Amino acid sequence: RTVHVELGERSYPIYIDSGLLPKAAAYLIKHGMSMKSPHLIVTDDKVAPYHLETLRTSLEQAGFKTVVSIVKSGEGSKSLQVFEEVMTSAIQGGLDRSSSVIALGGGVVGDLAGFVAATYMRGIAFIQMPTTILAHDSSVGGKVAVNHPLAKNMIGAFHQPELVLYDLDTLKTLPPREVSAGLAEMVKHGLIKDQAFAYWCKEHAAELLALDQDALGYGLQRGVSIKAEVVSQDEREGGLRAILNLGHTIGHAIEAVAGYGEFLHGEAISIGMAGSALLAEALSRGEGLHAETTAMLKALNLPVVLPDHLKEDDLMAAMKHDKKFKEGTMIFVVPDSIGSVSIVKDIPEQLVRDILKQLRKGGE
Ligand code: NAD
Ligand code: ZN
Repeated sequence: RTVHVELGERSYPIYIDSGLLPKAAAYLIKHGMSMKSPHLIVTDDKVAPYHLETLRTSLEQAGFKTVVSIVKSGEGSKSLQVFEEVMTSAIQGGLDRSSSVIALGGGVVGDLAGFVAATYMRGIAFIQMPTTILAHDSSVGGKVAVNHPLAKNMIGAFHQPELVLYDLDTLKTLPPREVSAGLAEMVKHGLIKDQAFAYWCKEHAAELLALDQDALGYGLQRGVSIKAEVVSQDEREGGLRAILNLGHTIGHAIEAVAGYGEFLHGEAISIGMAGSALLAEALSRGEGLHAETTAMLKALNLPVVLPDHLKEDDLMAAMKHDKKFKEGTMIFVVPDSIGSVSIVKDIPEQLVRDILKQLRKGGE
């Protein structure tokens, strides 16, 4: 399975299959990577014990030189401090303009390694090898970044990869909670642009959760394709790309108020998508949308109710911080039906408060 992300000169393929990591060298050769220059593999300390050797062996046996930088697992590694540590590995390892940075891991490693690739010597080749389901989202779009203590993803760049190698076998070691959280972004791609795919995700929920290779391969291919379509039309986030933020306004607020760690990103946006469906109903845009949406999310073991300890005022303040506010009104991505969304401006702050109250009671 191959998806082509069409971005003119910056177009690149995403290969999705099992057994890709042991064949990684062949893909690097196919894409013209230098045998003379060292390649930096960035990974984290949870992924490394399972998958690093496979990749390294493939590359070294084919004659590639590798340098490895292992960061701590978790969002904390998307920091300027860890960025500097990885840069140190790159400089000490002698990376040059023909080198590449290879991200072997989830979205954290991808964003961090991608930002290193974007900035080392003003930009060298970047290769993604995603090991989470969520990373099907982050491997398309070219957004790379680290966090500032005051704001997430604030220090970053657009830097498209040369290729993405998505080995389904690596997903087998993923904890079940991470599986569900990743599937939240997959359903999101259905909810914004493809009704049949949204229902497909629900019907195949058990297979997806069990990491059935056929179901997962198709789901990732479709999810990646939808994101690629949106990004191809709006590479630099001028307008259309905002539809990808379905569920993210409330979701980001939940993550910020709860503190990163309590909710995985996918869990927070799952609650956010349930909230967007309630908002749609309140704006008389779609009857029964909340019940339909939450049935899909619940099938994937995702939360759809806002917990009591997250206070309304704190969530509202977090949303204001998220620059979605303008003079007492807000901008939201609101579903029209399953598989279609609109960007709605001028939503009164009070209505959002009401939605949060309903969301706490699971929509009643
Ligand atoms: P992650 O990279 O932290 O991975 C989740 C957890 O799973 C980590 O503990 C990791 O060590 C572990 N893990 C990863 N692969 C594993 C495997 N195969 N086996 C066992 N354990 C494994 O997080 P994520 O959920 O993949 O991504 C979240 C990050 O992605 C956030 O920082 C978010 O901002 C970013 N993101 C970026 C974009 C983008 O467009 N660039 C889009 C969405 C999300
Ligand atoms: Zn997201």
